[in-house]
Amino acid sequence: MRIDTEVKLDYKNVLIRPKRSYLLSRSEVDMEREFRFPHAPNTWKGVPIIAANMDTVGTFEMAHALAAHKAMTALHKFYRLPDYEKFVKQDKPENGLSPWQGTFFSFGITDSDVEKLNDVMKMAAQRPTGEPVFICLDVANGYSERFARIVERIRKQHSDVVIMAGNVVTGEMTEELILSGADIVKVGIGPGSVCTTRKMTGVGFPQLSAVIECADAAHGLKGLVCADGGCTVPGDVSKAFAGGADFVMLGGMLAGHDECNGQVITRRYLTNELDEQGKQIIREDKFHEFYGMSSETAMHKHYGGVAKYRASEGKRVEIPYRGPVNDTITEILGGVRSTCTYVGAQSLKELSKRTTFVTVSQQINEVFGKS
Ligand code: 5GP
Repeated sequence: MRIDTEVKLDYKNVLIRPKRSYLLSRSEVDMEREFRFPHAPNTWKGVPIIAANMDTVGTFEMAHALAAHKAMTALHKFYRLPDYEKFVKQDKPENGLSPWQGTFFSFGITDSDVEKLNDVMKMAAQRPTGEPVFICLDVANGYSERFARIVERIRKQHSDVVIMAGNVVTGEMTEELILSGADIVKVGIGPGSVCTTRKMTGVGFPQLSAVIECADAAHGLKGLVCADGGCTVPGDVSKAFAGGADFVMLGGMLAGHDECNGQVITRRYLTNELDEQGKQIIREDKFHEFYGMSSETAMHKHYGGVAKYRASEGKRVEIPYRGPVNDTITEILGGVRSTCTYVGAQSLKELSKRTTFVTVSQQINEVFGKS
């Protein structure tokens, strides 16, 4: 047994120190980034925020709504090939991205996943030239040797696809995945809003430090990282970018919208107000179901139950209905833009170079009631 006593940080443990800035308005900040990849030959330009590939959030409807902001969506892996075929034929929104340009197709690593991936690549052969195909290879634990070997195999078979693979939280595994063929490494074990891995297994890593360490390792190999999970407010998204994340993936922050899947629950309750006839007024609140992909709810839905040998590592919550996602994404982008103006970054790309984090002691968090 060993103990690593170096301090590791979560988003809530830091703030970003303001710096002298010549920017007059947040509208001057360029939120788009252009990326080159270590393996895929293409480039991609857009807003590097990605809706998570959870079946509640990573939907076609979400992809359309975010594409209008040039942001991305990782589709959940339970769509079938005919669904994809219909989706990619749809028109691109005005000024937005085409469905090919901003969408990850997600896969696990079973034989049937690899078969489905090959079918998607056949479909992709018909896409307009020059548009990269993005895939997301997703396992709860990116540390298995088998995972790296599968990334390697897929890279050999599909040299021009953009591969995002994860999840991991340390530099050495980030390097291994990039050397195996990943372009983007997804970072995060345990920080998700509906994830219970830390409670169930004791395994995890404070997310901001994971992002900083993995980004450093990836950038040394010209690779990229996606900070996945743990953002609860726009300031956290800024901190992830400021820590070196090239992409940021969001689940909970995009849940509860019209574009999401999942049960809508209406709860009626009696108020203390009276109507004209003197009867107590009944009000309604709407909630959306949101759950982790390895929660009991997800496992019952997609696999008919929780296998005997495993425990669920996710939970189900009900979150207040929030209307169309357009307002939320506008708010998130506004927050990140504002961070950039505070530190004098003219573009999102400059944000991490201009960032100095200051640590906030746990005591202060407690005094101000922040969690
Ligand atoms: P959030 O943005 O909600 O904090 O985190 C979203 C991320 O949580 C997802 O992209 C995924 O990596 C992770 N996640 C989703 N469902 C589960 C789950 O059931 N268990 C665990 N351990 N992580 C999950």
